Amino acid sequence: MIIHLKDSISEEKSKKIAEQLKAIVVRGKNNKLLVASSKMKELPKDLASDVKSSHILSSDIQLASREYMPETRSIKIGQHTIGGQHNNTLIIGGPCSVESEEQITSAAELMKELNISTLRGGCFKPRTSPYTFQGLGLEGLRLLSLMREKYGLNIITEVRDATHIDAVIKHTDIVQIGAKAMYDHGILRKCGETDKPVLLKRGFGTTLQEFVQAAEFILSGGNDNVILCERGIRTFETKTRFTLDLCGVSFLKEYTNLPVVLDPSHAMGYAYGVPDLARACTAMGVDGLLIEVHPNPKVAKSDAAQQLNYEEFRALYSTLDAIANAIGRKII
Ligand code: PEP
Ligand code: MN
Repeated sequence: MIIHLKDSISEEKSKKIAEQLKAIVVRGKNNKLLVASSKMKELPKDLASDVKSSHILSSDIQLASREYMPETRSIKIGQHTIGGQHNNTLIIGGPCSVESEEQITSAAELMKELNISTLRGGCFKPRTSPYTFQGLGLEGLRLLSLMREKYGLNIITEVRDATHIDAVIKHTDIVQIGAKAMYDHGILRKCGETDKPVLLKRGFGTTLQEFVQAAEFILSGGNDNVILCERGIRTFETKTRFTLDLCGVSFLKEYTNLPVVLDPSHAMGYAYGVPDLARACTAMGVDGLLIEVHPNPKVAKSDAAQQLNYEEFRALYSTLDAIANAIGRKII
């Protein structure tokens, strides 16, 4: 149950009510917003005079639900906004990992050439094997920061664990929580303590309910700026790396108020399928696309098979406007 307390309620009283209801007091809302379990279906009678409004939700998809907030949340990323009434589809491009100054500068220049505002690049890579490239860590973050300054790009990079989250927040415009970290409550809770936009990827073995409930940890921590990212789930199929769950995307669009970004690169796992998938995703009317692109994918230190080369990326990018326009959206 979501409870909005009356303006006259003091901080002390709000805390008492939260204790009584075993509810969370959401940060940054003047102690007036409480969220209790969705199992609570009735407000205790003695609280009636303290409450401005209450919302009974059918599950613990609460703050993220359209039932509570009918309009998609509006999220500002640098000079751009996604969600709300904006009908924008934000393109996020860049390599899987930041590998060197030369490589990330080249990717930044490609983004500038195409007028794309947001550059991605992993620095703390949650690899499947400990014996492969693990990312440049803080040095990678320094390079991304340089790109931000030099080219005025918005930066997105992922956090692998809570130890370096403050540095990631400082140097980026969007914090990415990867599929493998989606259940990391240290990260989720830390991301609730900031107002920086967070792109939360769906774990590849995660139900939609679990996925959105992970977002609830960030929202109930007081960060309103959560973006959901579908990046493929594991199915019986092995010919493609994962299976992009577009039915799930329809569910998220219908039942949640969070902007949705699609990541065809990690879902497909092979560059040949990424352009078609990216076009299909654009046609679904989502709030953004995340596409991996590398100056020389063959020698990429991570996710080599799925990264587009520049020619492929340019060719794909040139087809997206028409698709977005056909459904009343704009590529930004
Ligand atoms: C990535 O974006 O490079 C990445 C590791 O993605 P995911 O967490 O979806 O596997
Ligand atoms: Mn990757």
